[in-house]
Amino acid sequence: MRILVTGGAGYIGAHACVVLAERGHDVVIVDNFSNSSPAVLPRLAALMGRVPAHADVDLRDAAGMAGLFRTHDFDAVVHFAALKAVGESCEKPLEYFENNIGGTLGLLRAMKSAGVRNLVFSSSATVYGAPDTVPVREDAALRVTNPYGRTKLVVEQLLGDVCASDPGFHVANLRYFNPVGAHPSGTIGEDPGGVPNNLMPYICQVAVGLRARLSIFGGDYPTTDGTGVRDYIHVVDLARAHADALDFLQREERCETFNLGTGRGISVIELVKAFERASGRRVPFEIVSRRPGDVAEVYADPALANRLLGWRAELDVDAMCRDAWRWQSMNPMGYAGRAAA
Ligand code: NAD
Ligand code: UDP
Repeated sequence: MRILVTGGAGYIGAHACVVLAERGHDVVIVDNFSNSSPAVLPRLAALMGRVPAHADVDLRDAAGMAGLFRTHDFDAVVHFAALKAVGESCEKPLEYFENNIGGTLGLLRAMKSAGVRNLVFSSSATVYGAPDTVPVREDAALRVTNPYGRTKLVVEQLLGDVCASDPGFHVANLRYFNPVGAHPSGTIGEDPGGVPNNLMPYICQVAVGLRARLSIFGGDYPTTDGTGVRDYIHVVDLARAHADALDFLQREERCETFNLGTGRGISVIELVKAFERASGRRVPFEIVSRRPGDVAEVYADPALANRLLGWRAELDVDAMCRDAWRWQSMNPMGYAGRAAA
């Protein structure tokens, strides 16, 4: 298939491009590089066997998107492009709604004009907020707690409406739990600009000496060791699920929503210890107060994806830490020095 990958220069999108190329698909990237670097392209070329076709276009640019769909005959779209920082979304809700919802509208308009009707969408476990029970199934109550999460929920709802209006339009909403790790080559990985918000990139920057110590947000949660529990998933496993979801859409011709996680909860301290084992580096930490809005424990029930996509996570926490560390130690400053000290 010829696949348009929006946000394909970003962290998860780049890994998905590699998997899609490995499965024999033709990949075209559209990315405005608002949160990524063109320096990823030659690295992708080395992993994919050729420079991927790419367009520096914002999804909200109607003329640019129409041109892209005129130039290429796409079979499907995998839609990663979005702004993703929870804290920033609370400060800049308009930007988040404009970019994430406006961008999706721009994409859907272009798809509609070109008659492209298969879409895989990057959603997030954040749509569950604080779940009543774990593991979380797809039919759990949806209760977003921040503007970023609301953009994901609104897009899921928008896509539901599009599916209802057009029986030929098929969507897989993929709700990611906590993507971490990097390609085993160490040449592509997560490159947060500035101070990382997420745990794994923060641990990596402590281990490589960019930051003095990790602050662990809360040591008094009702969990095994008092620290927050999440379902960390290796980005390569996650990337594979996108190829499986495209196959599902072609085969089943319907709309569905899937959790993507391992089904296993890991505490902050367990992740720190696993990282120390994998890297041979110390990760000094201190326990500080809880981060507002955080919940004690969230992990997936991935049974639906196991059953309908034939997908399951294969890489364990040691592989996640080993590959995150390889990326970080080979690229201490990210792709192009984006990681500010
Ligand atoms: P990322 O920021 O690394 O990648 C997103 C890419 O989209 C970037 O390259 C950015 O430049 C591009 N982009 C953003 N807005 C655009 C626009 N209007 N037009 C064109 N390009 C645009 O993020 P990521 O971690 O790879 O996440 C990919 C997707 O997965 C996002 O939708 C995110 O919300 C979702 N997600 C991520 C996580 C996570 O922890 N990383 C968890 C759950 C869901
Ligand atoms: N966390 C932490 N210190 C950090 C960043 C995160 O202790 O510097 C904790 C956070 O409280 C949560 C877990 O690590 O329990 C995962 O947080 P992250 O922001 O990576 O993901 P999310 O909150 O979206 O699940």
